[in-house]
Amino acid sequence: MTAAPERADLDAPAVVDALRATFRSGRTRDLAWRIAQLEGIERMCAEREAEFAAALALDLGRPAVDAWLADLAPSTAESVYARKHLSGWARPRRVGLPLSVRPGRARYEYEPLGVVLIIGPWNYPVYLTLAPLVAALAAGNCAVVKPSEHAPAVADALARLLPLYLDPEAVTVVTGGPEETQALLGQGLDHAFFTGSPEVGAKVMAAAAPHLTPVTLELGGKSPVIVAADADVAVAARRIAWTKLMNSGQTCVAPDYLLVEAAVRDELVERIVAATKKFRGGATGGLRIVDERQARRLAGLLDGCGGTIVAGGRFDAAERLGEPTVVVDPDPSSQLMREEIFGPILPVITVESVDAAIAHVNSGPKPLATYVFSRSKEIVARVTREISCGATVVNHLMFHVLVPQLPFGGVGRSGMGAYHGRFGFETFSHRRSVLVKSTRPDPGFVYPPYGALAEKLLRKLF
Ligand code: NAD
Repeated sequence: MTAAPERADLDAPAVVDALRATFRSGRTRDLAWRIAQLEGIERMCAEREAEFAAALALDLGRPAVDAWLADLAPSTAESVYARKHLSGWARPRRVGLPLSVRPGRARYEYEPLGVVLIIGPWNYPVYLTLAPLVAALAAGNCAVVKPSEHAPAVADALARLLPLYLDPEAVTVVTGGPEETQALLGQGLDHAFFTGSPEVGAKVMAAAAPHLTPVTLELGGKSPVIVAADADVAVAARRIAWTKLMNSGQTCVAPDYLLVEAAVRDELVERIVAATKKFRGGATGGLRIVDERQARRLAGLLDGCGGTIVAGGRFDAAERLGEPTVVVDPDPSSQLMREEIFGPILPVITVESVDAAIAHVNSGPKPLATYVFSRSKEIVARVTREISCGATVVNHLMFHVLVPQLPFGGVGRSGMGAYHGRFGFETFSHRRSVLVKSTRPDPGFVYPPYGALAEKLLRKLF
């Protein structure tokens, strides 16, 4: 693996050509090679936990336990799951034949795509780079990994450590930002897997289009939480507060805003504020925001958003800090209610009914996730059926991410394509069909010109 080139030094054609040569050698198709790469990722996560934790602390102020919980443990879990199931996933599948094609044998088999690009975000910069890499390597590809420039210590750690654990000629880390990513996309890769915002996702797709490079887009959006009047409010409040606090709300599947039936609104808000205090263990002041630009953006969302700020509200851009903030009934047309928040601000919208909540969600783009708290099977069924979104979680939030048996991905503006477990393997594979016929029998009636009898037979066969 080439070490991360300096930005100015990136020779994108050379990087991609070298990986193509490795792919052409055929060694990445071998299951033993793939398993060795996955073991390499697992060993790296175990042996280099402290180095990654230090980088995550620098970039995001993430405590060591959270570095393990949110980045290293899920990366390892994804790899272990893929390694254990790989031989089953990769097995060719025999299929039956219609009468018209018999006799013969048919199967489809999974072949790797070639050289793929993985473009990472900054918020879980280890996990959201390694999890797609696990899928790409499990499927037998070579990969260029482009971590986010907004988590530079993690990008450097990946560039330094991945070469020590993986086939150095099959995976290359390129550090840098939009310019480097565009240069790589310009090489006409075999797949581009992007995690980030819908706005940048559109640019990635546009850059991939001239080469017909297929894309997977793991995007974001405003994931709503619907709390019905019959919900277990105490549990809902704890789970909402907990997941909103994770990474200071900078999580793609974080609860973005609440839609709460009027009867339980005040109790829910009170309990969320109390739970937030408790979970912070007495800490006061702001939570760490990734950088000044994001902290300023978040402060801007509170400017003129209307409603009542019932907790928090202070953001200090220079210090990159923001208080956990709850805003009750902000102006629905405010920026706060139009753009993905991606920070520790929780708007609470009072609704008269679950119908109104569903209508509210359906008036915007399809979310990455929808969360619903209710004791009623009927309400849960309606929310699930009537809101199209990446995933629906009932009486909890975010935990679907940790189920490798479930496809993870968005729909509409929240993304296209999916990964995790078998779905990641499929994303990075081509399902190639193989039909094998023998030269006998070779009945003459199937060839033109067709007489009346031949036509009759053909009509029966096809
Ligand atoms: P971003 O879109 O700003 O950047 C993501 C990546 O794109 C970076 O590596 C960056 O270098 C690259 N990039 C930026 N501009 C580019 C351009 N013009 N051309 C090509 N590449 C370019 O996203 P972010 O700020 O890192 O992450 C936040 C967003 O990501 C949020 O919207 C969040 O919801 C979403 N997200 C989604 C998931 C998911 O799994 N669906 C996970 C995490 C984050």
